[in-house]
Amino acid sequence: MKDKGFLVVISGPAGTGKGTVVKELAKENNVEVSISATTRAPRGNEKDGVEYHFLSRGQFESIIENDGFLEYAEYCGNYYGSPKKQAEEWISAGKDVILEIEVQGFEKIKKKNPECISIFIMPPSFKELERRLRKRATDSEESILKRLERAKEEVKIASDYDYIIVNGSVEKCAADIKSVLYAEKLKSKRFDVDSMF
Ligand code: 5GP
Repeated sequence: MKDKGFLVVISGPAGTGKGTVVKELAKENNVEVSISATTRAPRGNEKDGVEYHFLSRGQFESIIENDGFLEYAEYCGNYYGSPKKQAEEWISAGKDVILEIEVQGFEKIKKKNPECISIFIMPPSFKELERRLRKRATDSEESILKRLERAKEEVKIASDYDYIIVNGSVEKCAADIKSVLYAEKLKSKRFDVDSMF
């Protein structure tokens, strides 16, 4: 039987560059990136079904009622959630599935799926984080300040994750995550010794 894939949670403050890192990881053959649902409005040239499934609050709440999310959370006044069905299918097919989610969602996943692999992507500093958020230039000043405040709370939870990786450069950060996934596959508990006999 084919081995199941990993459920990989990646978090980090908005503006850390985790989206770009995740895009880099998505180029790997055995990696799939979950597309979340959200009630926030599309930013810049984001498209429905590409960056997110953009839903109304009513649509989102009906998925909650039908137990259709692995996890969901409210972040800066909007709902965000990871659709359950697609992720479970990929994992059964042996794919590693990345959930790029904020910290409350991670706490929920960790309770329900303690075997998940969790990675916190840390900005090099808050100064650099602010610079990256401003450079993005698609958020209002109010939203930037909200996200910076939120970032200060989020980094306090970073030590609950299995790994903390600083995003100094996208290539190095993505390479570090690939190394983590590679090493996880070699863990002794994943080796079926009985299959040797
Ligand atoms: P943004 O609005 O900047 O795209 O995302 C805001 C935050 O929501 C980011 O930290 C992002 O990782 C997180 N997020 C995106 N999708 C999900 C999700 O499905 N669940 C949770 N809990 N957080 C999400």
